[in-house]
Amino acid sequence: MAEREFELACPVPVDDSGRVQLAHGGGGRMMHRLLDGLILPALAGPGLAARHDGAVVSLGGARVAIATDSYVASPLFFPGGDIGCLAVYGTVNDVAMCGARPTHLSLGLILEEGAPIALVRRVIESIRTAVERVGVEVVTGDTKVVDRGKGDQVFINTTGVGVVEHEGVIAPSQVRAGDAVILSGDVGRHGVAMMSAREGLAFESEIQSDCAPLHELVRALLGAGVEVHCLRDLTRGGLATGLIEIAQAAGVCVEVDEVAIPVAPQVRAACELFGLDPMYVANEGRMIAFVPAAQAERARAAMAAAPEGAGAVVIGQVDEAGGERWPGQVSARSGFGSRRVLDMLSGEQLPRIC
Ligand code: MG
Repeated sequence: MAEREFELACPVPVDDSGRVQLAHGGGGRMMHRLLDGLILPALAGPGLAARHDGAVVSLGGARVAIATDSYVASPLFFPGGDIGCLAVYGTVNDVAMCGARPTHLSLGLILEEGAPIALVRRVIESIRTAVERVGVEVVTGDTKVVDRGKGDQVFINTTGVGVVEHEGVIAPSQVRAGDAVILSGDVGRHGVAMMSAREGLAFESEIQSDCAPLHELVRALLGAGVEVHCLRDLTRGGLATGLIEIAQAAGVCVEVDEVAIPVAPQVRAACELFGLDPMYVANEGRMIAFVPAAQAERARAAMAAAPEGAGAVVIGQVDEAGGERWPGQVSARSGFGSRRVLDMLSGEQLPRIC
């Protein structure tokens, strides 16, 4: 028999190459290893240790939230959004998840030599529309240009600042057994919209990204007098990763009812086609809230009254760890009564989605 050349390949990224891989930016296990093994030991203080979407610091008697994020989305324009509005909403959402009212943004642009000025103008116009929608002001910024081939036309970094106007602490450390988990709407739209745009796939009805600001939802929750324990916007790694991160940080277990989790039929069909689990697909306009179970319905109704939270549902609850349930365990009950443990993915199912 003639000798045939073949190479064994594993689709799961392995992080023993000593080099940065796409999965290190995917929000999954490899990114957390990079954080825990390299970045946090060198820089950790109480702010980073909180493992939150942003930090809340005291400045001259005021509590101020700060969050930063970089955007490398590919493609730059996709159904339902573009890198410009993503760079505004993504950072605004991280500030809002600290329970703060977003007020100011910085804008860092990294442009590639040769990128059309008309394209940059489109991105800036999208940024302007987004900041007007949220009511934040871009107060400082920076522009850099890298050589042709060393960027992907436009990368953006934004830092957001906001004011905490209540006495409460909203952070993973506040989550406790007995909390209910509320999800603001259907999951998986952003990742599927990006994938469809990237692959040039057309479905019967176009799947739009859910890209949206969430600060009004947070305002509605706080305005309704709900005792909010923790908030998280669901981006890379989707709902499952958001739940796992919070369960691990709080040392509790979370169980969700898979049947209660809304997934649009087109998104479910696309996920089946691509072999994706919608629980792990990225969103850019969805969040989860942890509140005391007795206040769950009030919290859900407050979120559902805002357009960005119209599909809000209670999806699960927080339990004490113990017995077969280890701290940080997240499980999903299926419609047939079986339970599966949701584990953190190695990287993101789809790289460069935000
Ligand atoms: Mg976030």
